[in-house]
Amino acid sequence: MATVISGSDARMRQRVGLLGGTFDPVHFGHLRSAVEVREQLQLDELRLIPSARPPHREVPGASAGQRLAMVRLAAGEGSGLQVDDCELRRERPSYTVDTLESLRAELGNDAALFMVLGWDAFCGLPGWHRWDELLRLAHIVVLQRPDYDLDVPEVLKDLLAARSVDDPARLAQASCGYILCLSQTPLAISATHIRGLIAKGASPRFLLPDAVLDYIETEGLYRP
Ligand code: ATP
Repeated sequence: MATVISGSDARMRQRVGLLGGTFDPVHFGHLRSAVEVREQLQLDELRLIPSARPPHREVPGASAGQRLAMVRLAAGEGSGLQVDDCELRRERPSYTVDTLESLRAELGNDAALFMVLGWDAFCGLPGWHRWDELLRLAHIVVLQRPDYDLDVPEVLKDLLAARSVDDPARLAQASCGYILCLSQTPLAISATHIRGLIAKGASPRFLLPDAVLDYIETEGLYRP
């Protein structure tokens, strides 16, 4: 379990975490990780940011509006998580670097931004638009992903050697630029698995919030 950063460091600058995703649908793997990152890094807020037109993958099974609705239901009362629909309000594709630039403009240069990624997404970073600029805009927090067994690409090994830190307090000293690998409760849940269960008529209950499952059933999502 990662160390919790000290209170004095934590209060120096605004600290905002961002977990972007397709959320097709949102599930407890996303939500539990988000809550744990928020607590471990003592973030002022953690924003879930649904992607409108994911540039790296196939067309989602649910529309952008439906995915946003599910994230809102999941982050409802008491979760301590915020929902930011900034990528859905944009006309262009949802490039993360654009989102980070607009958040920097909103929050200012002093705020610490923490871009949260699962291990699978981190390993795919070299394919992202202007990926080498991301650390200029935010820290990167990497979550373990027990359902993926991926080797890290060479270029990321170099980046990890140069930028990764073990102590979360180091991240509190800067607004961007470091990589931290966190241990959170490992949950081998994926949206792909949930869609697959629904498509074959099986129940995904207890892999995602009941309110999200009710919405999926009402909207008839992910059925063949
Ligand atoms: P799909 O199976 O459709 O690819 P997914 O379950 O990976 O979807 P995404 O919306 O693509 O969900 O993920 C958004 C972010 O959350 C990514 O950075 C991903 O790595 C991370 N993530 C997703 N599921 C988990 C999980 N179970 N544990 C930790 N991180 C996760």
